[in-house]
Amino acid sequence: MNFGREHVIEPGSNVRLSKIKSQQTGPFEGKDAAREFTAETNDQIRDLQYRLFVEQKQSLLVVLQAPDAAGKDGLIRKVLGRMNPQGCRTYPFKVPTKEELAHDFLWRIHKCTPGKGHVSVFNRSHYEDVLIVRVEDLVPKKVWDRRFEIINHFEENLACAGTRILKFYLHISLEEQLERFKKRLDNPEKHWKLNTGDYAARDKWNAYREAYEDAITKCNSKDAPWFVIPADHKWYRDAAVAGIVRDTLEEMDPKMPPVEEDLDEIRALYERELAELEGKK
Ligand code: AMP
Ligand code: MG
Repeated sequence: MNFGREHVIEPGSNVRLSKIKSQQTGPFEGKDAAREFTAETNDQIRDLQYRLFVEQKQSLLVVLQAPDAAGKDGLIRKVLGRMNPQGCRTYPFKVPTKEELAHDFLWRIHKCTPGKGHVSVFNRSHYEDVLIVRVEDLVPKKVWDRRFEIINHFEENLACAGTRILKFYLHISLEEQLERFKKRLDNPEKHWKLNTGDYAARDKWNAYREAYEDAITKCNSKDAPWFVIPADHKWYRDAAVAGIVRDTLEEMDPKMPPVEEDLDEIRALYERELAELEGKK
């Protein structure tokens, strides 16, 4: 089954998040069918990623952005983190350190982009520098406003070097976020995830939405497209992203390299050793 692609935002179009329903469930009637699809698709992703790793010619960068509690961590746990860790790494981008702030905003990001054969998953990214930075007024407008163009050049540079880029915005409603904050409050295992800053950001929901719409609209290209993933249903979110990642890896079509060693010679050596061992019995 091929689906998920319908959530792409066409480059050049103006995204309006309020027009996109966050409760969509696509072709699935319920969670069981979606979870089955995700499990099968995860297996296909792993096989394709193995070929990507062996081929060593292309790379994949997955960028995750979302309001708090939209499910970046869950998506990594259930889909993206299931790839072979030898060729896949996740990078969380937090409030920049003093050293990071002493550099340009892409300094910490560029170091984490995937080399040939590798996959990088960004849990938050360079987009924070036109999102929280804008809404919280951390730098003047004239500084963050130039960053859209800088980001476009940066992503174009990565694409030219053989990196496919997929950017996912996990789209949840204000009501669903409140529900998830409540579940966190009720579950001591999740208390560490709660902070007053996240709660305060709810008051700025519209400002964040505007900032996201601007970032998605201005930094969206064929080589680095944005997908707005309906994420009120966790099982739909996982299935949709898994489907898109699988389809993208299929399109990249990584190939096993041609065999350069003389296999006949290796086989003859093996058979000779086997015969010697048999002779000693
Ligand atoms: P979390 O991902 O929930 O652990 O939280 C990380 C926090 O770091 C979020 O509130 C982000 O908005 C914040 N953050 C990430 N990157 C930046 C940045 N470049 N400038 C300021 N805050 C950031
Ligand atoms: Mg958080």
